[in-house]
Amino acid sequence: MAIKFIDELEFEGKRVFLRADLNVPLNDASQITDDTRIKAVLPTIRQIMRKGGRLIVASHLGRPKGKRDDKMSLMPVAECLAELLERQVIMAPDVVSDGVKVVAMQLKDGEILLLENLRFHPGETANDPEFAAKLAEMSEIYVNDAFGSSHRAHASVEALPRMMKIKAAGYLMRKELRYLQEALADPQRPFWAILGGAKVSDKLGVVDNLLAKVDGLIIGGGMAYTFLVAQGFNVGKSLVDQTRITYAKDVLEKAKRKNVQILLPLDHVVATAINEFAETKVVDNQHFPSDRMGVDIGPRTIDIFKNALVGAKTIVWNGPMGVFEQPAFATGTMEIAKAVADSGAVTIVGGGETVSAVKKAGVTDKISHVSTGGGASLELLEGKVLPGVAALES
Ligand code: AMP
Repeated sequence: MAIKFIDELEFEGKRVFLRADLNVPLNDASQITDDTRIKAVLPTIRQIMRKGGRLIVASHLGRPKGKRDDKMSLMPVAECLAELLERQVIMAPDVVSDGVKVVAMQLKDGEILLLENLRFHPGETANDPEFAAKLAEMSEIYVNDAFGSSHRAHASVEALPRMMKIKAAGYLMRKELRYLQEALADPQRPFWAILGGAKVSDKLGVVDNLLAKVDGLIIGGGMAYTFLVAQGFNVGKSLVDQTRITYAKDVLEKAKRKNVQILLPLDHVVATAINEFAETKVVDNQHFPSDRMGVDIGPRTIDIFKNALVGAKTIVWNGPMGVFEQPAFATGTMEIAKAVADSGAVTIVGGGETVSAVKKAGVTDKISHVSTGGGASLELLEGKVLPGVAALES
């Protein structure tokens, strides 16, 4: 079923509930250390204001566990938003209360009210219909631009939109869905996926779904070692998920049956420990020392992975190729980031660590789409429908 986008709606004189993802990192002095998420929702806010809407903006921040915690107040977000928009943002004292409702009802065209942290109320994470009904009372139109929160069936993304007649997705949500859902449903080929990072179990569903779609799959980073063990290699003290070795074997067999190429590392940077003083050397699969762990892909692997990406028309990347947070172990991830950026393909990068890696490599601007939602983007790559998107269908 189709969902509407904000361009299709009229907002003049209407109270618009905008679910945004303003879950920004704060330091100990409650200062915002990265305002990317606030900036990402500005186009939607500006459009609704321009069209005369009366905005009620809502988000969660951190995990206050259903009660007020001033350290997780959205007050710093209100100040940042006001600065970026160059206009007043009214900060609500609470999420739902008679007082807040009065302020919401008195909003004028183009004015903005920011509700307090949705998770100050236990009804939010419980997807409580009574809490959602109180949010619904305040507004006439519902807009969801909180892609990064839409994989969770919480009241403001699930129960609330189900109660609203007029609802739509914002610009950020539209861009995420265009790349992660529509582009992957009918990708330009050859289509390559690159998976890495530390947790195999988090990416099982992604591997399953992508095997049915891709022409080739590159597996690097910590994830690769479970697959190398499945192929019978010794990987020393590297990260291995012992519970997923059979699964890794199944994946390798399935790929063969489907004619999907799977590339695994041939050589590695190994270290005695994950720290900047650790002694390192490069080894190949046949000579992996038992007392060392793999911390980055080796130079031959970098070349093979880069060559595979030449000519690709669509590339999806989730998970770094090594412990890139340590400069000594970052080469593989940085080289792959540059290769993805220079590929000329439609490129989609998701996952918090991978987004940081792309930033570190200085190539963010050359990626077609850098997803703002880690968990949500993984669920779309798994082929799931996000609860917050399903609730927007009319
Ligand atoms: P994930 O959240 O599963 O994408 O994992 C991201 C993390 O994987 C990063 O913080 C990396 O430091 C880590 N990582 C990547 N390669 C390795 C490796 N070979 N051994 C241990 N951790 C790794």
